[in-house]
Parts: sequence; C-alpha cells; structure tokens
Amino acid sequence: MPRTFKVEKYHTGIVSKTTLFKVLKYLERKNIETPFLLVDKEKVMEKVSLIGRNIKNSTVFYAVKANPDIEVIKLVNKLEMGFEIASEGELKLLTSIGVKPDRIISSNPVKSFKFLKIAASCGVNYFSYDSVAEVDKLARILPGCNVYVRLSVPNEGSEWPLSKKFGVEVDEAAELLSYAGDKGLNPAGVTFHVGSQCTNMYNWNSALDKAKALWDVAGERGIRLSVLNIGGGYPIKYTKNVVDVDAIDKNINKLIREKFPHDVRVFIEPGRAVVGDAGIFVTSVIGKAKRADTNWLHIDVGVFNGLMESVGGIKYTYLVETSRDTKHKKRWTLAGPSCDSFDVIDKDVMLPEPEIGGLVLILSSGAYTISYASEFNGFSIPKTILV
Ligand SMILES: *Cc1c(COP(=O)(O)O)cnc(C)c1O
Repeated sequence: MPRTFKVEKYHTGIVSKTTLFKVLKYLERKNIETPFLLVDKEKVMEKVSLIGRNIKNSTVFYAVKANPDIEVIKLVNKLEMGFEIASEGELKLLTSIGVKPDRIISSNPVKSFKFLKIAASCGVNYFSYDSVAEVDKLARILPGCNVYVRLSVPNEGSEWPLSKKFGVEVDEAAELLSYAGDKGLNPAGVTFHVGSQCTNMYNWNSALDKAKALWDVAGERGIRLSVLNIGGGYPIKYTKNVVDVDAIDKNINKLIREKFPHDVRVFIEPGRAVVGDAGIFVTSVIGKAKRADTNWLHIDVGVFNGLMESVGGIKYTYLVETSRDTKHKKRWTLAGPSCDSFDVIDKDVMLPEPEIGGLVLILSSGAYTISYASEFNGFSIPKTILV
C-alpha cells in the first residue's frame, strides 16, 4: 500500500519541495527500518555554493561537528570547501579521505594536548584562542603557528548562544595578541561567533564593530592582522521563516568593505546552514497514550539518539503518515523511545493522529542531531543516508 502523507503548505515552507518529495519517493520502497536520517545531496550542494558567495575574498570552512557523517564529509570535500574542526577524531576523519592541512582550521579556543600533537604532525596551522594558557600550549606544541583571538560578541536573537562560554573583550584580546607574538606565534587575526541559529541579522553588525575596534588597537600596538574569521551562525528554517543567507552575506560584505583593509582575508565557518535543512529524520510511532489530559506520541528517535537540541530550545516541524483527515488535528506531547523522563522532544504540537507503526518525518534535522546521539538505554544511533 502506498504511504499517505498529506503535505501542507507549512511543510514546504520549511524544507524545499524537491527535498521533501525526494524523501517521500525514497519512502515508497519496501522494508524500511526506522529510524534513519536522509540527507538531500543537492540541497547541501546548493547551500555550499550559496554561503560566502557575496563576501569578497572569503574562504568557507565547514564546521564538521554539525554533521560528521563520512558521506557528508566526502561531498563537502568534493565541493572544495575547507573544514573547521576541534578534535583528533574530526581530524582523523578528514585525513582518512585525503583532505590537505591547508584546508583545515581549528576554532575551538581550548584544545586538548592529544589533538594539538596530531594537528602538529598533520600540518594544521590556524587556531583560535582566548587565554594565556592556550598560547603557552600552542607555543610548545606548534611553535610559529597562526592564531586568531576569540572576541565575545552579543548573541541575542540566537537560539543556541555560544558567547556565554568563549571569548574576551577588546582590551584583553589585544593583550592576548601581543602575548602570542611575544611567544613566537603569528597573531594573524580575530574571530567571533554570533551564536548558532542566529536569526538577528544585526548580531553581525555589532560583532564586526567590535572586531574593527580590536583591529585598530592591535594596529596601534604594531600588530598587522590579516584574517577576519566571522564564525558560523547562519540560521535555517525550523518552524518559521528566517533571514536568508544572501541578505546576511551582503550586509556582512558591505560592513567589511567599510571597516577593514581591502586585502583582509575572510574565513567563514558555517555548520548548521550547510546540512540542517537538507536533512529529514524518518521515525516511527511506537506508542500512543493518554495520560491525565495529555496525548502522548512516542517515536523511535528522542533526545538521546538524535534530537538533543530539542531540549535546548530548537523546535522542529513534523509530517506524519496518516490516512485521517488532516483538518482534525490533536494536541500531542512528543516523546523518544527511552525510559528517561528527560526524553521529551516537544509539547503542544498540533498533528493529525498517526497509527502505531506509521512514520513521522522530522524536517530540517540534518545538523546537530546524529552528531549528538548516544546509545543510551540501548537504542542505536540512526544511520545517515544520502539521497
Ligand atoms: C559550532 C561552531 C561553528 C558552526 O556554527 P553554526 O552555527 O552551526 O554555523 C563555527 N565555528 C565555531 C568555532 C563553532 O564552534
């Protein structure tokens, strides 16, 4: 029997029609065993060509942690993007497919000894930092390497703020650049991250203002910077519209032209925007229950094996397999398969009622899903399949 999905306008407003219909076509095959993540190759290719094309003199490095699936990495590699990494595991993945070290940077401000030693032996040469201790470590293991200092910048309007952890203010950053120079490193530039899933275009304005202030203070200290690393943060559509990459990049490019030397090298490190909206989770309904006043829908992917970001505030859009009238929606609490009460994905979701065993598709779930997944409670990590 063919599967019945009633695709509504709000679904195709979140992921592109071609991605969605490609996935529905894939689901026509027999013997599907959920859960798994389908990633639309063409969508990834489209996003790769889009990001950075409006920013002059820019190099784009894919933030591997968003989705380190080997096939995704191979695809990004074929498209000649660089890579941003944080660990020996990510580095080994890249060297296993022959990525050259001049296309790899690491913007994790605090790196492990193990990673730095392997990075040194591989020839990776660009690193971020925001502390004296990190300079001392780098000077020992990677003498003479290029470093960029991490500024703390406003993360308002980002659904996944990152500045709470990393980054220093302008004066301290200038001190750190001088210190890196004194220790024999090359103080090459400045970096920041506006926060992941940044839906406020003006976060980049304030970040670039701050970066410019640092650039000038460094200049006064006789340090000539050359690299402006603007990090990641480009948003994708989960449940609502977001400002598009082209508009963000045009704005960034205009500001960079106004504020920075004409030969500044711009690094960009997108993660979420490269794979997020190219991915759709295919899950199954494993249970339904009415507990007190609440309708519970239990599916085979939860917080622990793929949907970790749901507890940090990311809300997804769902498409359920059902032959019922989609006008009659019910209010559901969505839960994962484990016994843990933390394993609740979403509340107050209006969905038509699916059958037990029916499929539930989770849109825009290509980034920060599988990479977060564990086998907690014995539920396996879903496979990734490129279509
Ligand atoms: C995670 C991360 C990124 C990617 O961020 P997105 O919001 O996924 O684009 C880029 N740079 C650094 C340093 C990161 O930690």
